[in-house]
Amino acid sequence: MQLEEALHHYFGYTNFRFGQKQIIANLLSNQSTLAILPTGTGKSLCYQLTGYLKEGLVVIVSPLISLMEDQVSQLQKNGEKRAIACNSLLSREEKNYVLARISSYKFIFFSPEMLVQSETILALQSAEIALFVIDEAHCVSQWGVDFRPEYRRLGDVRRQLKQPTTLALTATATPKVREDMCQVLFETAPQVVAESVNRENIALFVEQTEEKLASLRKLLPQMSGSGLIYCATRKQVEQLYQEIKTDFSVGFYHGGLTSSQRRQLQQQFSENKLSILIATNAFGMGIDKSDIRFVIHYDLPDSLENYVQEIGRAGRDQRDSQAILLYQEGDERIHHFFHQMTREERQGLEVYLQNAGGSEEFLSEIQQKWLAEIKETENKSQVLARINERQVQRSEQLQKMLGYIQTASCRRAYLLNYFAEKLTRKPATCCDLDGARYLKRPDDEKEFELSTRVKQVDWETLLLRLFKEKKTD
Ligand SMILES: [Zn+2]
Repeated sequence: MQLEEALHHYFGYTNFRFGQKQIIANLLSNQSTLAILPTGTGKSLCYQLTGYLKEGLVVIVSPLISLMEDQVSQLQKNGEKRAIACNSLLSREEKNYVLARISSYKFIFFSPEMLVQSETILALQSAEIALFVIDEAHCVSQWGVDFRPEYRRLGDVRRQLKQPTTLALTATATPKVREDMCQVLFETAPQVVAESVNRENIALFVEQTEEKLASLRKLLPQMSGSGLIYCATRKQVEQLYQEIKTDFSVGFYHGGLTSSQRRQLQQQFSENKLSILIATNAFGMGIDKSDIRFVIHYDLPDSLENYVQEIGRAGRDQRDSQAILLYQEGDERIHHFFHQMTREERQGLEVYLQNAGGSEEFLSEIQQKWLAEIKETENKSQVLARINERQVQRSEQLQKMLGYIQTASCRRAYLLNYFAEKLTRKPATCCDLDGARYLKRPDDEKEFELSTRVKQVDWETLLLRLFKEKKTD
């Protein structure tokens, strides 16, 4: 069967999106692949289709429970009953049940913590593995509050599973991160399929403001179509939602919602019953909406890596879209605060290590992870040095992010340069520093909204109007 036929047979699509065909062809000929593709470009299709075309089990490592749940429910929606997520939500009995019947599944998702356990590895060694998938593979290289020491061990896990064909997936990677992923996860250099970070149909804007909320209120009525607004914390997401919910068709979305709430919101957003979602950057990857027209950052992202990934959700249909970053002086303070917290946690861990024998329960979550890594590698100084290095790197990333705001020349060129790419051709609508203006909202759309608003006037106004009409009759 041709790959296109298989695509149509299993998913009903007629065309592959960028990179998909190449990736699947690599995997089918047992060439491990590192795929750097933006979110929302159909990365999961790569391992799903490969899974259907190969005998055996597809093992997927995923760092977020919400992400796993979304993927499993998406597979189930497509009629796949042999998919399951193995994470901390399962009881010991449930987990044992799954592991005992591992070969009866086609797609099995693991949290990294669950995967590295010896009973999991033992069960997997008895199964035939068609494909080993590492989602969000950049976690290997990110040392800090959200780092995953278990990701450093995935290379080992691969060896214990006799090096199955592997697909490492990530949305963005600087050359340094790319190097790290290759080094930790693969014995020999993998095939690399990467999409440029340059998204020509997304115009780039930075709006410096004294009063962000007022600016946002002014901005939103000019925007057309669906959009995302990113905030740094769940609290900020909910606060902003309260501020604007009466004036705009908006919902909020973050990791604190239940999976059914998330699904419901995704559906409303996909069906355009909600025009705007306010989200944290942990925004579930389950959203695969191709016609998002604008992405607004209400808070400063901590790095260009995250920024590029987040704005990349706009305009997957290739139509003109915009990315707008609202910046108020001092917005970086929240990140300084996070960095300071991590520094203190690191110092706290050193004190703990010096007074060996204290109780681990007083350590924070991240400190416990670091400690686990130290025990695992039996190399305290190396782990501490790495934590330190990661902290320096985080400060640098924040500086580069601020540089994007302060730059006096093309923002696109600045972005590409950071990812070691060159801007060879400027799109017609490039960035605010190249004279780009916000896309004008079509008048018919405004009129339409006006007419729907009139329909929604409350009954009191309606009665009054009827009353008046009666009188003038
Ligand atoms: Zn430009």
